Amino acid sequence: GLSKGADDYITKPYSFMELKYRVQNGERIIRNEDKRIRLANLDNLTRLWNRNKIFEFLESELKRGEREGTPTGAVMIDIDHFKRINDRYGHLVGDRVLVEVSDRLQTAIRPYDKIGRYGGDEILVILPNCGNSEAKKIARRLYDSVTNQKISTEAGSLKINISIGCVSNEQYPQATKMQLIQASDKALLSAKKKGRD
Ligand code: GH3
Ligand code: MG
Repeated sequence: GLSKGADDYITKPYSFMELKYRVQNGERIIRNEDKRIRLANLDNLTRLWNRNKIFEFLESELKRGEREGTPTGAVMIDIDHFKRINDRYGHLVGDRVLVEVSDRLQTAIRPYDKIGRYGGDEILVILPNCGNSEAKKIARRLYDSVTNQKISTEAGSLKINISIGCVSNEQYPQATKMQLIQASDKALLSAKKKGRD
């Protein structure tokens, strides 16, 4: 049994106490494994899902949406002039801002939405069962959650603005993962070009 990969075994007749504690040990192994897998999929700094994982979520959400006939939304969020914050106040203050923005977004999403760090200061939110107008509403809520209050840092309270590009595949149910990402990126770029914030 062990040679086939079993973690443990007991033989009959067994003591109930022994069975109980061996099962408890097994539970501990599973918990540690779950924790390890979770950590491997998280972004170190922000504790959001990492790029790989958020891509995976997008893929599976699109598949589920296709099966169930429901649209999927994607929201791309980028901090405005984030480089200036680093340049003016240093990278640690920049990190603090990034973490606080992430926390605020994390708190503002619905329980079944997924949020991950797409890259540098770009964050991607996946919205299951979400059409165009709903996506827009959620994007507005995310915007408010970040910009309503200044972010306190070692360099004082900073007013942080973000730009957002949001899309849904409501009208294009066959859109691929990459097409959805590209469309949200394009919308984000257009927000940046129109003056940010
Ligand atoms: P824009 O409004 O056009 O988005 O301007 P921006 O300065 O935010 O954009 P840009 O892409 O030029 O700069 C992003 C900056 O984010 C550059 C990089 O140094 C910084 N950055 C990326 N990852 C981290 C990080 O983990 N911590 C900190 N402190 N800075 C980061
Ligand atoms: Mg930026």
